Amino acid sequence: MNINNLVRENILKLKPYTSARESHLNGILLDANENSLGSVVELNGLELNRYPDPNQNKIREKLSQLLSLPKENLFFGVGSDEIIDLLIKIFCNPSEDEVIICEPTYGMYKVCCDINNVRVCNVLLDLQYDIDLLKIKNAINNKTKIIFLCSPNNPTGNLLSKEKIIELTKLNVIVVVDEAYIDFANDEGLIKHAVELSNLVVTRTFSKAWGLAGVRAGFSVASSEITNLLFKVKLPYNINKLTSDVILNALNNFEKRNLFVNKIIEERKRIENELNNIPFVLKILPSDSNFISFKVEKPKEVFSYLESKGIIIRDRSNQYNFSGYLRVSIGTTYENDRFINELKNFKG
Ligand SMILES: *Cc1c(COP(=O)(O)O)cnc(C)c1O
Repeated sequence: MNINNLVRENILKLKPYTSARESHLNGILLDANENSLGSVVELNGLELNRYPDPNQNKIREKLSQLLSLPKENLFFGVGSDEIIDLLIKIFCNPSEDEVIICEPTYGMYKVCCDINNVRVCNVLLDLQYDIDLLKIKNAINNKTKIIFLCSPNNPTGNLLSKEKIIELTKLNVIVVVDEAYIDFANDEGLIKHAVELSNLVVTRTFSKAWGLAGVRAGFSVASSEITNLLFKVKLPYNINKLTSDVILNALNNFEKRNLFVNKIIEERKRIENELNNIPFVLKILPSDSNFISFKVEKPKEVFSYLESKGIIIRDRSNQYNFSGYLRVSIGTTYENDRFINELKNFKG
């Protein structure tokens, strides 16, 4: 598919800013008005006085090896949240185009659309919280540019059907699959497909399994066409040297991520069992992620009770198609025990 018919005209025509570090990273660098004498901060020999590489070469090469995917299909953002925003900027004309999101889901898709003044069309997930193909097909019109999907989905916790996602990529829209929680699922996700299919974008993050939420880094796998567009519209130096250094370090230590993931999955099973034994817990959604959503009769009261005990979970009961549900992240064994014990003490 030629995706250019979906790109905003001003973005297609855009002559991007050419930054100094685009052309030269070495030499007697007198081109960017930096401080050649040095930096007031010395940290890991990072030459913080110099602007970072706008092409993100080192981290893209490293990730490319690790995922066995071409570097041309990889892009890093300041969190995957930045990538969501950039995709809307690339494809959606404000106050004209539309985006489809499948509720209940992650709140940032709507917020980014609202900020960009792009209309959101809510389509509910089906009874199993999977994609409702018919509803989506009925909601699409010639203004629809992007469908945002989240798999495993936040806050329902489940993977979405791959077959249905692939089916959606046959339509003349951009399909974005947010795989923030894929590390916790027994599934390789859709990154291989995103290299092949020109209108499929997969986003992932270092904020969850990798334990780097404080750093703000995520990446996308997409066709080289879409990847080039992301590079065209991003702020020139979105990934700074500190972030880049930490990400390289993380990618060299991915075994540690696997240890975390195994422990979290073990704890997830344990909490699921514990929740099963609590009479006022009406439903527990099976989870492919690092959280569990469960249904109670009085979500607000349960939330406030736990809060009063210093245990903070998320009240998701106001989301579409999700009334009564609370979401708890899997913590340390101690934190999980505290959560379960206090929950058992709730008397509604
Ligand atoms: C936590 C989360 C993210 C992470 O976003 P970052 O900006 O990379 O921290 C993305 N998508 C979903 C669905 C999430 O729950």
